[in-house]
Amino acid sequence: MKVALLTFLLITQASALEKRTFDVYDIDVEGGKCVLAVSPSGESLLFDLGWPAFNGRDSDRIVTAAKAAGLKQIDYLVVSHYDLDHMGDVPLLMSKFPIKTLVDHGPVETSGKGAEQRYQSYSAMFPKVNHLVVKPGDRIPIKGLDVLVITAGGKWIDKPLKGAGKPNPLCATTPVKANRPEDQEDNSSIGLLFTSGNFRMLDLADFEWDYDHKLMCPNNPVGTVDAYQVSIHGQDKGVSPVLAQALHARVALMGNGTRKGGAPATWETLKTAPGMEDIWQLHYSEAGGKEHNPPDDYIANPQGTPIDEAHWLKLSAQPNGTFTVTNTRNNFTKTYNKR
Ligand SMILES: [Zn+2]
Repeated sequence: MKVALLTFLLITQASALEKRTFDVYDIDVEGGKCVLAVSPSGESLLFDLGWPAFNGRDSDRIVTAAKAAGLKQIDYLVVSHYDLDHMGDVPLLMSKFPIKTLVDHGPVETSGKGAEQRYQSYSAMFPKVNHLVVKPGDRIPIKGLDVLVITAGGKWIDKPLKGAGKPNPLCATTPVKANRPEDQEDNSSIGLLFTSGNFRMLDLADFEWDYDHKLMCPNNPVGTVDAYQVSIHGQDKGVSPVLAQALHARVALMGNGTRKGGAPATWETLKTAPGMEDIWQLHYSEAGGKEHNPPDDYIANPQGTPIDEAHWLKLSAQPNGTFTVTNTRNNFTKTYNKR
């Protein structure tokens, strides 16, 4: 009897473990950035937290998504950089939901746009929790998931990843855009490569066009991925073909707002990228119009969606590389079978 019960328990436990996927929630923060990654182990990593203000709107949305993901805490909060639309209000979020470790690219080195003041109120939280500063090549030690830092503090990995490093032919055909000194904080973004089994996803936060060329030319040190979290909300200053097309991503997930990002030029770059199957967006892009937006099923918040609905996109990846993307507004789901 005891043996039978034990066998039953072991089998139930094993099947529960097998079901565990790597889950990614693209939370709508109205043109800011906020991506929640949940490892198959159950540990979690929040990559940016949207905007401050608006009566704590974005921290409330994070708590809602985290609870829907079954989380009791956020193990790692990665602040990609110190711009308003990414670092939100860390003390406020910490008052609403437990956070174990703060991760960033180090003390603020850029000036302007209020980054220094934001860093001050953020760094006041360091004594309360763990604090980790990362540089390219480091790993964020979340259990059951490989999270490699590709960019941080205006630097990038100087050695190609295993199996990558081939010449990038797009470098010869893509003009470099001028550096935007006023956007240096964007180019200081922590960028992460997530690997779970055979599935890979790249997210470089707000890395811009000229830095794409520094990272990806003349050789591609990253290789290919399954999913690409589109840089800098899909603004055309941030999405060079040397990155967006060289990745051969099967899906692009864009954290745009109705009137932020989702640029027609970015859409063209993604749409014509080799291997690209679908573009998923958090919002209908007004700048894009009919020609440069996906069908409504691929848009979490299409035209006319009330702002307080704030639907999100969810990606779930199995260890063999098969993944699904779900629009939580209408539960439209598409599965991308392993290649
Ligand atoms: Zn941004």
